Parts: sequence; structure tokens; C-alpha cells
Amino acid sequence: MSITFAEKLARMPGYQAGVPTGQAPEAIAAGSVAQLASNESPFPPHEAVVEAIRRAATSMNRYPDPDATLLRRRLAERYETEPGRVAVGNGSCEILLAAAEALAEPGAEILYSWPSFSMYPYLPALTGAREVRVPLGPGAVQDLDAMATEVTAATQLLIVCNPNNPTSTHIPAAEVGAFLERVPPHVTVILDEAYVEFQTNDDPDAALDLLGQFPNLVVLRTFSKCYGLAGLRAGYAIGASTFRAAVDAVRQPFSVNALAQAAGAEAILHQDDVSRRVTATVAERLRVEEGVRALGLSATAAQANFSWIDLGAADEGEVVAGLAEREIAVRPGTALGGPGHIRVSYGTEAEDERFLAGLAELVAG
Ligand SMILES: *Cc1c(COP(=O)(O)O)cnc(C)c1O
Repeated sequence: MSITFAEKLARMPGYQAGVPTGQAPEAIAAGSVAQLASNESPFPPHEAVVEAIRRAATSMNRYPDPDATLLRRRLAERYETEPGRVAVGNGSCEILLAAAEALAEPGAEILYSWPSFSMYPYLPALTGAREVRVPLGPGAVQDLDAMATEVTAATQLLIVCNPNNPTSTHIPAAEVGAFLERVPPHVTVILDEAYVEFQTNDDPDAALDLLGQFPNLVVLRTFSKCYGLAGLRAGYAIGASTFRAAVDAVRQPFSVNALAQAAGAEAILHQDDVSRRVTATVAERLRVEEGVRALGLSATAAQANFSWIDLGAADEGEVVAGLAEREIAVRPGTALGGPGHIRVSYGTEAEDERFLAGLAELVAG
């Protein structure tokens, strides 16, 4: 008799890497591939952050601080809250997984829009909770009205991704607030703001003001995108202290490594650097949007560091493969729940020009 695995293994969605298979690893190592498939920052971390990592590296013989005291204190200072309300994780994805584990079990429901972040389907798969997917509304914007009507007594967790990945659309905090009024207090609402710094629709911290009014709200953010620290794995959530304690209870004590703690604690001090990165990203957003429009293609109203492009009559597989041949990695929409689309992250000016030139050749047929 051979070994058997847990039933949930068959439910796991699996993750596809951002760089298409068949892409020469040497080309990636040489830096000739435009990596526009994973919504990373094209800019390396701030020099002071790299220095903090270097300093922390000399005490790798010690376990990290299980309470991430400095990082949580700096985050609490930045957001004018108490450290007890700040959870940190090995990437914000770890907080999502821990939240599901702490909140959901068979019989419970986990609700989110679709298409949305590819990680969310892991949560019901792991916990055995029922997944409720709500289709996006017009313009690929999340339909908060439809989401509110799907809430039941069994709903344990509801996720709003804002701006939404992969569609890049954003909902202003006032609308999120009106939605929260309609969500009963037994439902934990995670507002996933991985890209919120890049939107120009609203005050980037506006949703944090809702925390005082809605004890069931959790605002989730990350160092992976606008801070350029995707490789380190550090994310955080601000919500009730009971939420923080619950996610801490289901994880190993040392989930956030010492380098990530040191880097995050330094990075949060450099908001001027965040502003520069955002300005550069917004300039690239305009460049890509204009280029896409010039090709006669349409895209959703982007508010993150990527565009969601409708390829029209062009074939998604051929466009993705053609871009890969040109050493440009983007995400095929089919894998993200939106056939006929591609999701392209903004890179440097040179990378985005390369992307637009490649796309022009491919859609001209
Ligand atoms: C990239 C991303 C994250 C960040 O994940 P980390 O684990 O912090 O790297 C979270 N949510 C969404 C919607 C994302 O696209």
C-alpha cells in the first residue's frame, strides 16, 4: 500500500510562476528578461534598507524576535495605532492563510470577488470552508452590492481587494465604508490594500479611518510592492487586537525572519522614497495606457502598478508566447480568470517601451 495525502491536497489550486516556462534561466540571471508578470517593483530597495539587512545579517545565529517588536512599533507609529493591533507576516499572504485558519472550517463560507487575487482560493481549499465567488461588475470593478447580498450567517471571512488584482480597479474608501455598514458584525472583512499606495483616486490612508468605526475590519498591506521587498516576505495587517492574537496563535512563532523585520522597520521610515516610487509608477501607468489605446486596445481604469488589457481579436496565447520570445514576461488572463486578457506590470521606462513595441507587432498580426 502506498502513502496517501490529505483530501484537501486535491483541492489546492497551485501557483504558476510569473516567468513563462521555457524562458532561459540565463536570460533571467543576465537581467535581459523584462519581468512584468508579478507586479513587483522594478526598483531595488532603498539603500538604507539594504544597509539594515546587512547589519541584521551578522546576527543570523540568533532566532528572530517572535513579537517583531521594533517592526510592529514602527508600523503603529506610522499609522497612529497600538502595536497590539498590528499583525506582521511572512508576506501578507501568510496573514491571509492564517486568517482563514483562525476563522474558517467546514460549514463556514469565505466570500470574495472573481477575478481577484490568485491566492484567495487557497483559503477555502485549505480550511474546507465553502467558497463564494461574486462576479465583478461593469468596468471590472468589484460589485460591493452583490457581495453584501451574498453574506449569510455562515460567512466568516469576506475579502475586498482594493485596488483589485488582476483588474487594477479601485473603489474609494467612502464606498467601502457604506458597504461595511451593510455587512453584519460577525463577518471579518479583510481589505487587501497591497497596491493602495499606487492609486490616485483617494487618500491612500483613507480606509484606515474606517477601523475605528468597524471592529470587524482588517486592513492588509505589504512591503512586497511599493517598497520593492518582494523577495524578503514581509506584510502586515491592522485590525482588532483579537484578530492579531488569532493569526499569531495559528502560526509558528518565528514566521517573520530577522532580515525581513529589520528591513520593514527601516523601510517604513522612508515615506519620501515611497512617494518617488509612486510618482515613477504613475508615469509608467500613463505611458502604458496611452500606448495600449494607440493600438486600439482597451484596458480597465488602472489604479495599481499594472494594467489589465483586453486583447480584442488578438489571441491571448499567441500574444503571451510572442512577448516571451521577445524576453518579456506578462501574465496570461486565462490563468487569472479573465480569458482574452493579459496583465502587465509596469517596469522601467525602457521595459515598458519594449513591451509596447512587442505588443504592437503582435496585435498588428
Ligand atoms: C502581491 C499581492 C499581495 C502581497 O503578497 P505578499 O505575500 O505580501 O508578497 C497581497 N495581495 C494582493 C492582492 C497581491 O496582489
